[in-house]
Amino acid sequence: MPRADRKPHTLAASLRRILCVSAHPDDNEFTVAGSVARWGREGRDVAFCLVTSGGAGTNEHTPRSEGLIPRREQESREAARILGVKDVVLLGYTDGALEPTLALRRDLTRVIRRCRPDVVVCSDPTVRYYGNEYLNHPDHRAVASAALDAVFPSSETRAIFPELLAEGLEPHKVKEVWISGALPPDSWIDIGDTLATECASLKAHVSQVGKGEWVDGLLRGWAVRDGKHAGVEHAEAFRRMVLWDGK
Ligand SMILES: [Zn+2]
Repeated sequence: MPRADRKPHTLAASLRRILCVSAHPDDNEFTVAGSVARWGREGRDVAFCLVTSGGAGTNEHTPRSEGLIPRREQESREAARILGVKDVVLLGYTDGALEPTLALRRDLTRVIRRCRPDVVVCSDPTVRYYGNEYLNHPDHRAVASAALDAVFPSSETRAIFPELLAEGLEPHKVKEVWISGALPPDSWIDIGDTLATECASLKAHVSQVGKGEWVDGLLRGWAVRDGKHAGVEHAEAFRRMVLWDGK
């Protein structure tokens, strides 16, 4: 499609509840937080589900891991507050050792049936590497794969995971899935008004970014790159899946 025909997308007003599923406490802030802040300002309810609490950290800022998990959980709550996210669900899996297991799929199905989102946001499980610089983290791929499988078919199918019915969790049909980091993307959210909020939310992860002097430049660079595809100054890019239009 010629670039001149591309426009940023606005979520339908009927899509009120959004659940963002990620492997690590700062994944959303690196990738989708401008959109999250925008959706919050539009009055939608956004929740985060963090599969690990980031106990592995980074070697640069967190050479020791004692006390890291509660610190990162606190940083996650602060970032969520900055973004206007209403709820943070922590699953407590081990950072760095995730696989797309049935147990993880069941846990994410439970979260979806409880939260009952119209939209689920996750990353792209099919991307093994980006460019020539970044090998996509196996935790990212594992969570994205399990999340998509939880959306379909597990969340909406009564006979799958009957133990969840016993918990009182009825099936739930997700309407749209927004996949961040998809190659190629096909939908863009204008984050011109919320890029600064995204940067502030990432800087809340002090254990990971330190003083974060590089945060604004990095996120702005990505936003400018993605904005060029949608005819706006700053954007975040996704692949949009429409599973059900609600009719
Ligand atoms: Zn990560």
